[in-house]
Amino acid sequence: MNAPVYLDFNATTPVAPEVLEAMLPYLREHFGNPSSAHSLGRRAAEAVAVARERVAALLGARSGEIVFTGCATEASNLALIGAARAMPPGKRHLVVSAVEHPAVMAPAQQLREQGWELTVVPVDAAGRVSVQSVADALRADTALVSVMHANNEVGTLQPIEAIAELTRRRGILLHTDAAQSVGKLALAVDALGVDLLSVAGHKFYAPKGVGALYVRTGTPLQAVLFGAEQERCLRPGTENVAGIVGLGAAAALAQPGLPQLRDGLRQRRDLLHEHLARNIPGLLLNGHPEERLPNTLNVSFPGVSGRALLHAVADSVAASVGSACHSEHDVVSGVLAAMGIGAARAAGAVRLSVGRTTREEDVQRAADCLVAAWRRMVAA
Ligand code: PLP
Repeated sequence: MNAPVYLDFNATTPVAPEVLEAMLPYLREHFGNPSSAHSLGRRAAEAVAVARERVAALLGARSGEIVFTGCATEASNLALIGAARAMPPGKRHLVVSAVEHPAVMAPAQQLREQGWELTVVPVDAAGRVSVQSVADALRADTALVSVMHANNEVGTLQPIEAIAELTRRRGILLHTDAAQSVGKLALAVDALGVDLLSVAGHKFYAPKGVGALYVRTGTPLQAVLFGAEQERCLRPGTENVAGIVGLGAAAALAQPGLPQLRDGLRQRRDLLHEHLARNIPGLLLNGHPEERLPNTLNVSFPGVSGRALLHAVADSVAASVGSACHSEHDVVSGVLAAMGIGAARAAGAVRLSVGRTTREEDVQRAADCLVAAWRRMVAA
């Protein structure tokens, strides 16, 4: 039997062979602690430095602006809580979008419990915040705005550059969770205008357990973990050297081919969409038709539950109904609800996300299976 077609690259990606090759020596012979003064330690420290340069290059940042973390969740916690702690007492207001991942929403709520005021700006039917609604939310005591770069469930891209114009003018920090866009789209921190940006290794062919936070030089940020002096005291604890090397290798692998990767992902994603739309009357796209991650297709299948549909094709297609974090529970996605999508349409939603290794024949096979299962279910 063939392995299922993997269409869940937004949940996680496999480790690229080049990335694994780069990592292995740091699990075998070059196992030193980067803080050790001897040659093994220096070797590890040099590898971390190279990885830092590679991640910085991918983001258009300086290497001293990269803090390695254990994941994007940790990066966003450091961004929100660390920036909040560094603020003067008069700045106690925070703005986030309604479609943030829990990695941002949960620390924002944590701050609210600690006395911060939180404004959640709405999104439109395509999942985009309006720049005007962010402008309207800003106040004299606003310290930080956090709006994700690309949504994990529907792929919609947010107008970060335009939001940055607002926040910069008023001296407000801007964080973006770019866990889904780094490695899929060419992006540069200066063009985006952000002060803080979160990266997830396992969304672009590095292993799980490594991420990064970009911290623009001069951004006020305090530690949220306390220990030794690694990562400029912002992420104390012995570095995950092999994971960091893997993140650097993934950045180096992604960077030169990003425009071609984007076009290839889009072509396979759109082929999948065409095939499904041709065979399923009433199939509805969730998310922005154009301003969207090139690999993400979130569609509502009419008259069925997306979860039941994926269950029916589980031997042939591996995909999710939404965020991997909630895929076990039968709750309506908060992202789709924020977009004003009703319960029936939301229940039929499936997130299909393609990746580097997805071939045309894979999307054809997956589409055939989904169409056949949908037909069986609506006929029953
Ligand atoms: N932010 C977004 C948009 C995501 O899609 C994810 C992963 O699903 C995360 C944050 C969390 O990433 P990590 O698993 O590295 O903590």
